[in-house]
Amino acid sequence: MHNGAKVINRLEITFITTFVNMFEVKEIQDTDLVQNPVIAQMSKMSHEQILFCNDNSTGLKAIIAVHNTVLGPALGGTRMWMYNNEMEALNDVLRLSRGMTYKNAISGLNLGGGKAVIIGDSHSMKSEALMRRFGKFVNSLGGKYITAEDVGISTTDMTYVNMETNHVVGLPGKSGDPSPVTAQGVYMGMKACAKEQFGTDSLEGKKVAVQGVGHVGEYLVQSLLKEGAIVSVTDAYEPTLKKIAKSYNVNIVGLDEIYDLDMDIYAPCALGATVNDETLNRLKCSIIAGAANNQLQDELKHGVEVMKKGIIYAPDYVLNAGGVINCFSEVKGLSHDWVKDKANDIYNTIGSIVKRSKEENVPAYQIANKIAEERIESIGKVKLPL
Ligand code: NAD
Repeated sequence: MHNGAKVINRLEITFITTFVNMFEVKEIQDTDLVQNPVIAQMSKMSHEQILFCNDNSTGLKAIIAVHNTVLGPALGGTRMWMYNNEMEALNDVLRLSRGMTYKNAISGLNLGGGKAVIIGDSHSMKSEALMRRFGKFVNSLGGKYITAEDVGISTTDMTYVNMETNHVVGLPGKSGDPSPVTAQGVYMGMKACAKEQFGTDSLEGKKVAVQGVGHVGEYLVQSLLKEGAIVSVTDAYEPTLKKIAKSYNVNIVGLDEIYDLDMDIYAPCALGATVNDETLNRLKCSIIAGAANNQLQDELKHGVEVMKKGIIYAPDYVLNAGGVINCFSEVKGLSHDWVKDKANDIYNTIGSIVKRSKEENVPAYQIANKIAEERIESIGKVKLPL
């Protein structure tokens, strides 16, 4: 199925050290992080600012992390999640905000990276007052951070946030649901991977397994079927799966069965970390390209292993940038055509990353990180942080 052997022979494990991540301060030890879990952690990942938010009357407990504003205001969604403890929430917001810096940079957007997390159950703890109080905290950052929807947050919630701050995107009647744009970017990036792996970017007859057919996954399935791909899908939510089975000519497979399928392309569009020690022993694909964030459970380890297996991995934050491209258009008042062109351009960005990855024997995600860092570094020379 995949041409792994060729690649394995050319691999040098030393490439792990090829790129030193500019956003990591190496001298901070894990033991320091136990005793100094906040600023030491910020320093390790090069965050600019964290705002801890508390409001007893509404029950709001939130953390806003601004990772980097060299390219522009930090844009990233607000996630509401019942974290087990504060450290879990802090780690999540630090990791996600840093990811936004890379995503925005590599997408050529003049945006920095930020993210917010609200600690709590999105089904039972949300209220107009809580969202408005959160909006006040966003506003206190004076535009350094622009928020948007993420897991557990709806457009209605964002309208409450908007009552207290203008630094919010993804409002009803504005740029709208980003999912079709995200799916278009994933589809184009997948085609670029196919071009590199199969010599043609046509997906006709290619066996594609889509894990998760929610907002993005369903749009992706539509594009794949239109091109003549043979599509298998799975989803954890039975009603969604039933709807998809009724509407499209796809093979429905079990939640775990998806990893063992005879497939050309694995498209994770549900959860992160599905490319891990266990699944890598099972996946028989030649391309991994999907919308989910943080697909590699351990970037360093699994990025190398994917490559050793001859699988082309499309770095997730590059591939799924359609959503933030859509948000950026709202910030700048750009047209839908601009959004479409920019999402289609993910073909070229992914194409050059996977080509360079093969030529230089360096995992694709490392190439992507380097390109993002180079842009921030070069623009930083002509522009001071906000
Ligand atoms: P969604 O919640 O609409 O869809 C996710 C689907 O995955 C749901 O139908 C859910 O039932 C299913 N699912 C959950 N666990 C599963 C499992 N173990 N196996 C199979 N299916 C499972 O989310 P979405 O907006 O379609 O986003 C999908 C992924 O893409 C997420 O990881 C999200 O962070 C990422 N993403 C989305 C956008 C966007 O524009 N929506 C942008 C960038 C990244």
